[in-house]
Amino acid sequence: MTIHIDTVSCGMIQENAYIVAREGRDDCAVIDPGDDYPKLKRALGGKKVGAILLTHGHFDHIQAVAPMADEFGAPVYVHAEDAEMLNDSRLNGYMGLMGGIATGPKIEAQDLGEALDACGLHFDVLHTPGHSKGSVCLYLKDEGALFSGDSIQALMASLKALLALPGETRVYPGHGPATTVARERARYRL
Ligand SMILES: [Zn+2]
Repeated sequence: MTIHIDTVSCGMIQENAYIVAREGRDDCAVIDPGDDYPKLKRALGGKKVGAILLTHGHFDHIQAVAPMADEFGAPVYVHAEDAEMLNDSRLNGYMGLMGGIATGPKIEAQDLGEALDACGLHFDVLHTPGHSKGSVCLYLKDEGALFSGDSIQALMASLKALLALPGETRVYPGHGPATTVARERARYRL
């Protein structure tokens, strides 16, 4: 059975929200609802939201969570390490970027765990910290689809910044033997 994935670009930062539905079902999972609930609601095309999954807790991905969870009575899932960001404007970046404190209904979220079944979909939860402590990628293995949140861009950007240092720079890592930037560049083929 196939699945349908709709991409809805929302808001000022054009973050992607994803509507994922198994064919023949009238419910769907929404990944990272973004901050334009009316637009997202139109894109649902009458489908019921059965679960809301968050790849991480940054404000640009979560503004529509509370109204959507409220309207559909849908559970919200996030990695435990990002849970406190959801209701804290300082931690989720809203205050820094938008210059104020977001006041909205409180988001009640449950732990994503290591895997989650929702709306006839089986998501493996891959913990990929870096962009935030609780960043995850959501993997639909049977469908060959990965929802990576901001993880890939963020980890690649960090890696590229480090590997741009002079090649002879000696690197003393937190675990394992010392190395050099040149050796690591070769290892990561960057
Ligand atoms: Zn982010």
